[in-house]
Amino acid sequence: MKVLKFGGTSVGSASNINNVISILDKKSKDGKVIAVVSAVGGITDKLLAAGNLAIKKDEAYKDVFTEIQNVHVTLVKQLIPSENEAIIAAIENKFKDLKSLLEGLYLLNELTPKISDKLVSFGELMSSYIITKCMFARSLDVVRKNSQELIITNSNYGDADVELTLTEKNIQTYFKASESLITILPGFVAKNQDGEETTLGRGGSDFTASIIAAALNVEILEIWTDVSGMYTANPKLVKQAVPIEQLSFQEAMELSHFGAKVLYPPTVQPVLDANIPILIKNTMQPNDAGTKISDETKASIKNPVKGITHINDIALLTLQGPGMVGIPGFSKRLFETLANEKINVIFITQASSEHAICFGIDIRDSQTAQNVIDKTFEYEITLKKIEPILVETGLSIIALIGDNMKNYQGISGRMFSTLGKNNINVRAIAQGASERNISAVIDESDIKKALNSLHERFFEVQTKQLNVFIVGVGNVGERLIDQIEQQHGFLKEKLKIDVRIVGMANSRKMVFNNEGIDLENWPSAFDFAEQSNLERFFNKVIELNLRNSIFVDITADEKVSDWYAHYLRNSIAVVACNKIACSGAYDTYENLHNLALSYNTAFLYETNVGAGLPIINTLNNLVASGDKVTSIQAVLSGSLNFVFNHFGDHTNFHDTVKRAQFEGYTEPDPRIDLSGIDVARKILILARENGGKMEIEDIENESFLTTANLESSSVDDFYDTLKEDESHFQHIYASAKANNCQLKYVAEFKDGKAKVGLREIPEGHPFYNLEGKDNIVMFYTERYPEQPLIVKGAGAGADVTASGLFADIIKIGNK
Ligand code: ADP
Ligand code: ASP
Ligand code: MG
Repeated sequence: MKVLKFGGTSVGSASNINNVISILDKKSKDGKVIAVVSAVGGITDKLLAAGNLAIKKDEAYKDVFTEIQNVHVTLVKQLIPSENEAIIAAIENKFKDLKSLLEGLYLLNELTPKISDKLVSFGELMSSYIITKCMFARSLDVVRKNSQELIITNSNYGDADVELTLTEKNIQTYFKASESLITILPGFVAKNQDGEETTLGRGGSDFTASIIAAALNVEILEIWTDVSGMYTANPKLVKQAVPIEQLSFQEAMELSHFGAKVLYPPTVQPVLDANIPILIKNTMQPNDAGTKISDETKASIKNPVKGITHINDIALLTLQGPGMVGIPGFSKRLFETLANEKINVIFITQASSEHAICFGIDIRDSQTAQNVIDKTFEYEITLKKIEPILVETGLSIIALIGDNMKNYQGISGRMFSTLGKNNINVRAIAQGASERNISAVIDESDIKKALNSLHERFFEVQTKQLNVFIVGVGNVGERLIDQIEQQHGFLKEKLKIDVRIVGMANSRKMVFNNEGIDLENWPSAFDFAEQSNLERFFNKVIELNLRNSIFVDITADEKVSDWYAHYLRNSIAVVACNKIACSGAYDTYENLHNLALSYNTAFLYETNVGAGLPIINTLNNLVASGDKVTSIQAVLSGSLNFVFNHFGDHTNFHDTVKRAQFEGYTEPDPRIDLSGIDVARKILILARENGGKMEIEDIENESFLTTANLESSSVDDFYDTLKEDESHFQHIYASAKANNCQLKYVAEFKDGKAKVGLREIPEGHPFYNLEGKDNIVMFYTERYPEQPLIVKGAGAGADVTASGLFADIIKIGNK
């Protein structure tokens, strides 16, 4: 004999009911089957809604009633297409009772727990009736038994306690005599000894099935639902969750107690006592393996954490005061007070100083709890030995579950470091003595992020999701998006990094997609974009609250870099090719580094110097490994290099600069490059990375431009002055040529001082043959005293800058 339970979704549509019927038909080939069914999905809620509208004298209850009736009549018509008149008439007759019950409520203005039970019982009574009739119409050997005649409870309406001995006897007697191959019973419903209708509490159909399974000592209890087992986390919130193959009874109990709704917590007890395994199966995917719950514990399981679960709507209550230590029987009085009000305590922690006790309860109980506790300790409160109870709301509990966790070290360490890294504030912590459960109280708004980051940490160690937000989708941004799109598969497979772009903005528009923007057609995402705004961009990133978020700045805009600190303070990493922050005031530079450190995140800007070349990284490695940099000699301006490599006998200076700008080698304002300020900023950044507390004013900058060039009021004006001063530039060129030298704009750092300027480089010098837009940096250090460590290559251009940004993003992924 087998007991199967089918939940609301499983009986929620004609096609699902057809699945149920075929499962039962198949099972009955091997012997008798008992099926416990829930109400059609959503009907329990609708019945309650109708009742609540009726008592508020809201006529809309009639619409809800009609809707409920239609759902059922439609089901019958779909399941039994012909000769269904008698069944429909019978159903409509039953609905007359529901109608008069609702009319009564409309007059009475009151929905007592007793009437409420009568009301919601309609759901299960109706679904079990329809399914039985349908199976009968298909000539199956089926009978319906009303569980209200078997399951007897006390009169605790809404969540009644079962009189087990009597109930078991009823079940055994009935099934002993029953000859039908298939028996259908409504779940959830029961009666008290006076014959009044009661219910077993929301989700209680599982319990009905479990009681029957235990009473008949069947070999297995099967819970058929809308997911393929108990998952490593709620699959609706964690996409990567997977079904758990096997669980112990205790683990299942903890998981369901802590919110895995797939199993109603009391369900486990009767079958645990009788040592009957539970199998959780998916009605819509009957071939999936599902989850087996039994007393077996598999010792060889690699991961001691079995599942992550959570409960929302938690209130955290703290009772504290200097006098608490001395008050005898303190905890007893506290918890007795709660027990008297039937308030369930979900979570307790007490500091070992005994100065405070903190516990979590359902938020709906918090007002009552506050009143009764303050009353219990009224005397101590007036004596100021205890403070009135503190109530905090908007919280959730998140818990890791696993029998085997106690045998492993460092699980809670990993749990809390993961939460910390993702900027999730932990309000309270509890670990059961069994160590089967480690729980933390966090803000409800952090739940999705917490579940996903813990899930990633404990179950998907292989892949790490990076959520990227890009501001500045211009030339470089486009290249970066293309590179990410191209490399996505490789990174996921080889480096186990899943890079998604979740938000992007240009100067006009911004767009977000929680699931990651489709990178194949990303420009079309902007079609529906909203107007761009840095503050709203930031707020959206915070609101999305995704793990491993990375803000990428591909602008040259100070207004954007002003936001870095905000991002870092929220543990959001910052990757920038914008060099304003690192070359602005030293305090800003230092502050951003400190923020990254204290919020356990990253601030990376490799592309600030030499685009994609690993210059900053190389310097960081030299310093970190204890080498001492004695001097740095560098050509750091791709644009100036381009200009001086093309300027000569057959060109004029103005046109050469124009061309450099046209080909994308200069900043939007070419004066930033030509004045040497951009190079000065770069050597300043290198000096700072080397530990120097320098400001931009400390960098000596001998400009090769004329005063008129330097004082130009706009970019156009600047170009005009270049034309006018052509002879000045020709003169510079002629001098170099006469000396058989090449012109290079050189940055130097030595003895704590830095300078930049145009130099005539003689033949044979490593800078002499530097081509096109290339950069070169020579590090002279204690370990590289004569032959410097040289980094050389393209130091400007959209592709290489994008790949430098990409490298920083991946570096964060590898952290
Ligand atoms: P039924 O109506 O079949 O009793 P429920 O809605 O009560 O189904 O329970 C199944 C639902 O439980 C799933 O659809 C899922 O949203 C939710 N759930 C929460 N946590 C988990 C988990 N860890 N594993 C599986 N399902 C879970
Ligand atoms: N129909 C009831 C509910 O929704 C019982 C159940 O489905 O288990 O809570
Ligand atoms: Mg359920």
